[in-house]
Amino acid sequence: MIRKFLHQVFSRKTPASSSTSTLTVIPFKRHGIRRHQITPCALKIATQIQQAGFSAYIVGGAVRDLLLGLTPKDFDIATNATPEEVHHIFRRSRIIGRRFRLVHVMCGAETVEVSTFRGSSTEEDDPVAIQLTDQHGRLLHDNVFGSQEEDAARRDFTVNALFYDPAKEEILDYMKGYEDIKAKRLRIIGDPIQRYREDPVRMLRAVRLASKLGLQIESETAKPIGDLAPLLHNVPPSRLFDEMLKLLLSGYALPCVVELRARGLHHGLLPMLDVILEQPLGERFITIALKNTDERIRQNKPVSPGFLFAILLWHEVLSRWNSLQAGGEKPAPALFKAIDTILSIQRNKLAIPRRFDAVIQEIWTMQPRFEARAGRKPLRMLTHPRFRAAFDFMMLRCESGELNAELGEWWKTFLSADGDQREKMLSSQPGPKRNKRRRSRKKASPSNDPGSDTMIPDTQP
Ligand code: ATP
Ligand code: MG
Repeated sequence: MIRKFLHQVFSRKTPASSSTSTLTVIPFKRHGIRRHQITPCALKIATQIQQAGFSAYIVGGAVRDLLLGLTPKDFDIATNATPEEVHHIFRRSRIIGRRFRLVHVMCGAETVEVSTFRGSSTEEDDPVAIQLTDQHGRLLHDNVFGSQEEDAARRDFTVNALFYDPAKEEILDYMKGYEDIKAKRLRIIGDPIQRYREDPVRMLRAVRLASKLGLQIESETAKPIGDLAPLLHNVPPSRLFDEMLKLLLSGYALPCVVELRARGLHHGLLPMLDVILEQPLGERFITIALKNTDERIRQNKPVSPGFLFAILLWHEVLSRWNSLQAGGEKPAPALFKAIDTILSIQRNKLAIPRRFDAVIQEIWTMQPRFEARAGRKPLRMLTHPRFRAAFDFMMLRCESGELNAELGEWWKTFLSADGDQREKMLSSQPGPKRNKRRRSRKKASPSNDPGSDTMIPDTQP
């Protein structure tokens, strides 16, 4: 039954969208991309697939990035071999995915994604495929094998639909993507409205890719975005989360956020963006933090998603924390309560996976400890495994004006000081006496000083 269905779909006439495409073969002397610009793993895998009698091409973002003079993040391969056939060629490989069946081929520490050419399958193209979209036209299934030309047509933007043959060092271009790259233009393939309906995430991808790659969104591609923005409501939250994370970690988070707002893709559609943009008090903090994140990424420094979420939600936590304290709660339990509340509200909206919780909570709960500079506490702070992230976070709070700049300067000096200088800095702090008094009080009732050791267990060995 399924076989028959697949056969019907597979052997149907070429879809409408591909009838407009013509193949242009771009030789090396025009595009200038040498096969050694591809990682040895991807090259080896493509070559082995070709030697087994199939076609294999580097495809998508990697070809685009090479043509733009950028270093690709990863190399994907497209082939006419089925997932089973690919799996058969490589001992170290596995078939993954249910909706999109792909093969991951392992090579040293690298994993290369190999996908079989897929066709498009909307009801406009083919009545057999009528069950494949929801009532808004969103594609629910996209796993019908097709020809290379169909594979090009089902991709999102022309610049993402180029195939590079490493053996011949040729680029195969069905969608005039090469021209668009040269003109620095981002153009959607096919009818923009239909393509956004099929997958509303393409609107977010347009903004992210244009900002990141310095491309102009072509006018027909840009036009429907504002009107179709509400379609993002139908996208599963986990997919929106993944896409927003890509956007925030693209190295161009700030321009992307500005662009999303300008194109009407923000209010009420992307909960994460609401959080970012609808905090009058936090706006300065978030702007500084995103700029800082972008710089780190461009310098190839690590940015953890946990750190990013800690930033995005900090002012929510802060205002909840303040109002709990204004209601008479003690600072330390109030902070924990505020954290719990904000995380559980946002978990549903933003679909933040729980694996990030520990980092987020540690960064936040360490914050008050930076303000307790008396005694040995600052030295103990340095040994905390999350110290660096918490310190960077505190510095952003200083830069945004939320904390006194003097505090950040003190910590910066303390970090670079030698042992003697540190001792001097600690002994010149006015705190110890006051602390002693607190410590004696602590016996009777637990401390409510958010900077005290009772709030966070010390993690030093
Ligand atoms: P990046 O540099 O961010 O990885 P990319 O274009 O490679 O950008 P991927 O998400 O890795 O993005 O996707 C790989 C390729 O798959 C794209 O280049 C594009 O051809 C195709 N693709 C990805 N998402 C979509 C989509 N929503 N609709 C159609 N094609 C898509
Ligand atoms: Mg990619």
